Amino acid sequence: MVEDIAKAVLLRLADAEGLNPDLLKDRYVAERNRRIVPTGNGQYTPTVEGAFANFGRDPWADPNFQRDAVLGHSEVIVAGAGFGGLVSAARLREAGCNDIRVIDEAGDFGGTWYWNRYPGAMCDIEAHIYLPLIEELGYAPKHRYSYAPEMLDVSQRAGRHYGLYEQALFQTSILDVRWLESEKHWLVETNRGDRLTCDILVMACGRQSLPKLPGIPGIDRFKGHAFHSSRWDYAYTGGDFHGGMTGLADKRVAVIGTGATAIQLIPEVAKDAKELLVFQRTPSSVGVRANRDTPPDYADRSRPGWQRERRYNFQSIISNIPQDQDLVGDGWTDFTRKIKPPTPIELAEQLGRQPTPEELKLVAEIFDYRVMNELRGRIDDIVADPETAELLKPWYRWFCKRPCFHDGYLETFNRLNVRLIDTGGLGVERISETGIVVDGVEYPIDCLIFATGFEANISYKRLTGFEVYGRGGLALGDHWTGGVRTLHGMMTDGFPNLFMVGGNQQTTAAVNAVHLIDEQAEHVAYIYRRFKELGLRQIEPTSDAVDDYVHIIRSSPANAALVDFYKDCTPGYYNAEGKATRSEDIFFGGRYGDGPIPFFRMLQAWRATGQMEGLTLGDYTGEHVGSGDYVSNIIS
Ligand code: NDP
Repeated sequence: MVEDIAKAVLLRLADAEGLNPDLLKDRYVAERNRRIVPTGNGQYTPTVEGAFANFGRDPWADPNFQRDAVLGHSEVIVAGAGFGGLVSAARLREAGCNDIRVIDEAGDFGGTWYWNRYPGAMCDIEAHIYLPLIEELGYAPKHRYSYAPEMLDVSQRAGRHYGLYEQALFQTSILDVRWLESEKHWLVETNRGDRLTCDILVMACGRQSLPKLPGIPGIDRFKGHAFHSSRWDYAYTGGDFHGGMTGLADKRVAVIGTGATAIQLIPEVAKDAKELLVFQRTPSSVGVRANRDTPPDYADRSRPGWQRERRYNFQSIISNIPQDQDLVGDGWTDFTRKIKPPTPIELAEQLGRQPTPEELKLVAEIFDYRVMNELRGRIDDIVADPETAELLKPWYRWFCKRPCFHDGYLETFNRLNVRLIDTGGLGVERISETGIVVDGVEYPIDCLIFATGFEANISYKRLTGFEVYGRGGLALGDHWTGGVRTLHGMMTDGFPNLFMVGGNQQTTAAVNAVHLIDEQAEHVAYIYRRFKELGLRQIEPTSDAVDDYVHIIRSSPANAALVDFYKDCTPGYYNAEGKATRSEDIFFGGRYGDGPIPFFRMLQAWRATGQMEGLTLGDYTGEHVGSGDYVSNIIS
């Protein structure tokens, strides 16, 4: 509560919009509280093992695929064939590396877009900045927002363009990764009997790839057909990504979940199912998508570096760094602008004195409420039944949950064959042999689609299914028992010649994850180039350099502010289901606090010195060749 006269000034901002911040705040808190599940992340059931492992099986690959074990050495092994692995391998190729082996349990390149082929799957980041390597491929995206088949196609094009297929090992799971001290190599062993060594290992293993199911009582009793959104069962539904799911024409279909995935697939299922029941625990905020075909001249692709420039423009606007123009000009940049509160200086002018921290917080809330009111108003405009419209309204701050954008989701609830079953924030009560029970009422169904997301904020070992043993046999998990420790989020001490690419802790949280990946890949490629130029055999951050970097992360006020923001948010994977108490518990937590652009600039500045600061460099002869401040000789 802000008591003084300044509040009246501030509330004028709100009054003009018909907002009552106190009432809204109370409503948000009440909505949050009724959604808290005491077990937190424990409420979910994994699909990688146990009774539900079948939900995680690969529907796209040949189940009878066999090959002989591969033995041998390559200069680089990349674990992961998603965008992180692809871009890393591409930048390494450009840096002169011609011996790269990519390994993935999937049957092809593509990562997320290999697995997620549900009808309607698309990426809601503009294709021109999201799709990897399209400048290099000379490829013009077909739509402003790419659909899944195009993203898979671009992945395959990149795989071919950079000659990555020849050595790639698909449908192959890594079991173990071990640093061989005497040889200065990594040893990678797989479930197909491969024993592979490499000089450099790049881990590009994604972040949210393990599908999870809700631990709803009775989930194991359901006798109808059920599958997870990321393993779409076209054999059952019929049709393909483009529609024609004739198998659903006589089916009562249920979707559990209303997150970013669900809002894309629900409109498509509604077109083909006899009846669709949508089971909602927390509504998503859904802004305008405005997807459309993109003619070749949609974006100026004439200048070299155009994609990078466009990505920087987008990220700068998201980060409130002034730009001459908004090249992407979509919901992300629009809402980011609208939600940006006045600066302390601007507010001081209005108040005639410096604002207090409490006042700054209130103003930020008011700007957020405005954006959310606009989104709630959009629901009233589109959804014909007022009761349904009310239930679809999100009551939380904009970034509490992943913001969504779609041109057909809300409209779907005007269809006669679609019903929203709101669970009052409590989730589905029970699953029976033949249906779903909410508030004591059983809804009979034939088919159950879980759009219930993926395990988040899990350890590397859990995520990848394998342990990484560094110098002296130390497991990465043990090395990090006191918390993640890295230099730049990409290397760690005691694990030579190892790079981690992706949205790991201690990097940065970029809305366009592929921008981050490309910046990291460039960094890895730079270090690789120096590795070759200097004739090195091992390269590794010093413990001092890692300590210093970890201190930068842990002392960041932005990370503390994140905890403060998310403690009031409705539960979800962003805030460890409402249980986050430390920055590291938060999906975007434990990051380089100044944000993506400063993070990228910091990496660029590090490279520009040419000093390899903080790294220990070891050559073939055992002589110390490093030149950074922290360098010490570790070669025995
Ligand atoms: P989410 O975790 O976002 O959503 C899961 C949904 O399941 C939520 O609505 C959740 O409700 C609901 N749920 C979970 N348990 C229950 C229960 N017991 N009863 C009822 N409902 C339940 O997963 P998504 O697959 O939607 O998204 C996963 C990731 O993929 C995200 O990172 C997302 O950003 C990304 N994505 C990105 C896209 C893009 O365009 N770039 C497109 C699609 C996905 P509640 O909210 O209450 O927990």
